[in-house]
Amino acid sequence: MPEPAEIIARNLDRIRERIAVAAEQSGRRGDDIQLIAVTKYVGTDLVRTLAEAGATELGESRPQSLRLKADSLNDLERIRWHLVGHLQRNKVRSTLPYVDLIHSADSERLIAEIDREAAKADRRMAILLEVNISGDKAKHGFSPEQLPQLLPQITNFPNVEVRGLMAMAHRQGGRAVARADFAAVRELRNRLAVDLPDSVSLDALSLGMSADFEEAIAEGSTIVRIGRSLYEGLELPSR
Ligand SMILES: *Cc1c(COP(=O)(O)O)cnc(C)c1O
Repeated sequence: MPEPAEIIARNLDRIRERIAVAAEQSGRRGDDIQLIAVTKYVGTDLVRTLAEAGATELGESRPQSLRLKADSLNDLERIRWHLVGHLQRNKVRSTLPYVDLIHSADSERLIAEIDREAAKADRRMAILLEVNISGDKAKHGFSPEQLPQLLPQITNFPNVEVRGLMAMAHRQGGRAVARADFAAVRELRNRLAVDLPDSVSLDALSLGMSADFEEAIAEGSTIVRIGRSLYEGLELPSR
């Protein structure tokens, strides 16, 4: 049996290779696509292994797990944390110090709270606006219809930097449906970008997970969030 470190290093290599191929096919470079290694399936030891294998941008879906892991790994200097899951307003204050980018800003009230806490910490917090592109009621995110009216207020908070959009494809439906979802997000971004002040760009698109990141890259994703594929071949505790 290969060691977990070998398995993870090999999985990471393969994913990077697939990202590079997908990027090339859409006329971009693999280096232009940021890989977020999602760590929600594994404990701190394997996150450390992952970081040692070269994954520096790490993502968690729960604020509390992010804080715990970030605290246990605070000796690692090069890693940066991304929150990819829902953030409640009452967790904003405790979460902000740990995160580099919040992918899951999903309401104006949440963004107002992020702005308030970022101001107190004397920083400008980078966020992506989560769009509920599948229309699934169980999912968070702005509806694509409501976002155009809200955008002027959202981009007006002085201590929040809106960098782009994030979305998840329909849960069922496979790669073709996912690709259509991602195309819809890109088109929404392009429409929103027309009316923006010069100081705001929506260049970042956080689209694509293990099952559909190649489709996402084909539709213009600049950030992919990958969990499962990193741990293939390891026995993970069920969750
Ligand atoms: C878990 C998760 C991912 C990673 O999904 P995989 O299918 O494990 O690659 C990406 N984004 C979000 C928001 C997640 O919760």
